[in-house]
Amino acid sequence: MMYFSEKKDVVTIGALDFAIYLSAREIQNRIREVALTIEKDYDGKNPLFLVVLNGAFIFAGDLIRNMDIACDVDFVKVSSYKGLASTGRLEVKIPNEKDLTGRHVVILEDIVDSGFTLDQYVPVVQAQKPASLKICTLLEKPDAAKYKVNVDYKCFSIPTKFVIGYGLDFDGAGRNLPHIYQLIDEWGR
Ligand code: 5GP
Ligand code: MG
Repeated sequence: MMYFSEKKDVVTIGALDFAIYLSAREIQNRIREVALTIEKDYDGKNPLFLVVLNGAFIFAGDLIRNMDIACDVDFVKVSSYKGLASTGRLEVKIPNEKDLTGRHVVILEDIVDSGFTLDQYVPVVQAQKPASLKICTLLEKPDAAKYKVNVDYKCFSIPTKFVIGYGLDFDGAGRNLPHIYQLIDEWGR
């Protein structure tokens, strides 16, 4: 299973082809803008960034390195089970370690798709009584929204197509790609 080349416009994982969609440069430029906004909003507040693993790990690393303010970072791992019934359930596999009480918390997500994950997870954070809670996501698929999620900071809105790279995987592969790639469907693009 060969898939990786930094310079390629198309990568193949298994039977699927992905075309470059957002370049590393575009991603970095946008992250710098969003980081500056967050930096201004949270200066002096010592925010706590709650990184949702696994997908957001690279995004979080780049975002917080672009902020010149005091902050804390903690990590959570959640997974969603959407059974046959319409009601899904979220399982917190690894909870946060730091006390969120009275803290200004910013959740860092890789992508908001249906909104299910954050719809379920936000109450888990709210129950820990943070002073404030905001959501920052690298990507959002607005046309896929099924649950109302109030995203406060967003780097990119993208169409409802599967993407990989820059932390996002397909079957575990592709997280290390420096660009974001979009699945090429059977009609080309
Ligand atoms: P939601 O709960 O909002 O429907 O989906 C959120 C999760 O689904 C994301 O955190 C991510 O793990 C996964 N996901 C949704 N769309 C994509 C995509 O295009 N590519 C990848 N790699 N994961 C996705
Ligand atoms: Mg995620």
